[in-house]
Amino acid sequence: MSEFILIKEGELTLKGLNRRNFEDCLIRNLKRKLKPCGDFDFRAAQSIVYIEPTSQLCDLSAATELARKTFGAAGVARARSCPKDARSIADCAIDYLRAELSAAASFKVESKRSDKRYPLTSIRLSQYVGGEIADAYPAIAVDVHNPELTVNVEIREDYAYVHASNNNAAGGLPVGSSGSAVALLSGGIDSPVAIWMMARRGLRIIPVHFHSPPYTSELAKQKVLDLAQILLPWCEKLTVELIPFTDIQEQIRQHCPEPLFTVISRRFMTRIAAQIAVRNGCGSLVTGENLGQVASQTQDSIAVTQQCVDLPILRPLIGMDKQEIVARARQLGTFDTSVLPYEDCCTVFTPRKPKTKPKLDDVLAAESRLDVESLVRSAILNSTR
Ligand code: ATP
Ligand code: MG
Repeated sequence: MSEFILIKEGELTLKGLNRRNFEDCLIRNLKRKLKPCGDFDFRAAQSIVYIEPTSQLCDLSAATELARKTFGAAGVARARSCPKDARSIADCAIDYLRAELSAAASFKVESKRSDKRYPLTSIRLSQYVGGEIADAYPAIAVDVHNPELTVNVEIREDYAYVHASNNNAAGGLPVGSSGSAVALLSGGIDSPVAIWMMARRGLRIIPVHFHSPPYTSELAKQKVLDLAQILLPWCEKLTVELIPFTDIQEQIRQHCPEPLFTVISRRFMTRIAAQIAVRNGCGSLVTGENLGQVASQTQDSIAVTQQCVDLPILRPLIGMDKQEIVARARQLGTFDTSVLPYEDCCTVFTPRKPKTKPKLDDVLAAESRLDVESLVRSAILNSTR
């Protein structure tokens, strides 16, 4: 029988009437992502997406790994199908899992029946298949409490499926199912994690990065592009908009009080990001802000920054501990790139004593000395990809 990749839909199954939309979005994303691995058939039934290779040329291992990085998949397993009678299931496990059963010291069988008319209980089926496996592989012990290997048997509508792969998957909602957002991507630790978190809630992300040549280098820009490349498998598509920020920062430095530099820069970034969002039909902005981390991330600074746009600003890291953010960044593989020591435009123009409680009136008075609209317009006009 055939080998499949089984995708468990998880959270999608809680959706009501619009569940089909989520499922279609997941399948669309999987189809596009798995294309380089060969031709596959996709079919959804009973909260599972079945992905079946159409030829020997398909790279199932690579496809499985890509599927594990697809949001909307709560579990991903590589499995073989077989007829549903107990004998066929035991034979399938003995043959298909030869390498795993030969390598492990102990195992157990775990059965699930989504076909409730099935004549054997899950426990009886597990006992039978376990007994047959133990006879075929005398060197491996049965251990139902702490096995090295778990052999999974799933009785579904059409066939039984056998697998021993871990079920790891990205969870969340399919990218695109929640719409899209513009994310402010710096070269730091936080914003890549924020992007990952909001993509996991189904947002398609357009990242924008502000750079200030010659104060910031090519290497600093490349670092941000590298971060986007690391996030790409989860985000489906990720094209960084590079916005020149030198003029704006020089104008701020010349005309505004130094303690307000950062909050005023942040307001410019926010306005520019919001305009790009509206042009691209995005419903929100995403930042890596984290309450109290630095002067520009106090409640007062956040309020003053938010004031210049109508779009909601999503801040998924707002209540996280730095250690939790770092742990996530390590897990995603962004950490080592994020800590490379290249300057960010914010670090180049950091005030010595930034205001932690900026007053909106002071900020508005300072900004009145700048031609905000034309600075914003020209930054967007000169953005590149
Ligand atoms: P990060 O690790 O994300 O850089 P940070 O602690 O350094 O976070 P700040 O520099 O205060 O925080 O930036 C707060 C948020 O503002 C960032 O998470 C990011 O969303 C946005 N941001 C800052 N600098 C830039 C930039 N050069 N380009 C785009 N967005 C930026
Ligand atoms: Mg930063």
